[in-house]
Amino acid sequence: MIEITPKPKKKKCFDCGAGFMTNPRARFKRKYCDACSKKRKKAWDNQWKIKFEDLEDE
Ligand SMILES: [Zn+2]
Repeated sequence: MIEITPKPKKKKCFDCGAGFMTNPRARFKRKYCDACSKKRKKAWDNQWKIKFEDLEDE
């Protein structure tokens, strides 16, 4: 039995332009490098936090 292993592809980060390797087993195709995806996730988390706090004030 031959098992086909997907190969990681080199991609360019949409944000900083740095090259990074994608994980072929990942469910979602990544557009950003590790550093940028962490930054974006943090910003996203903060966005929700801010929205939540805003709702509490009303
Ligand atoms: Zn990046």
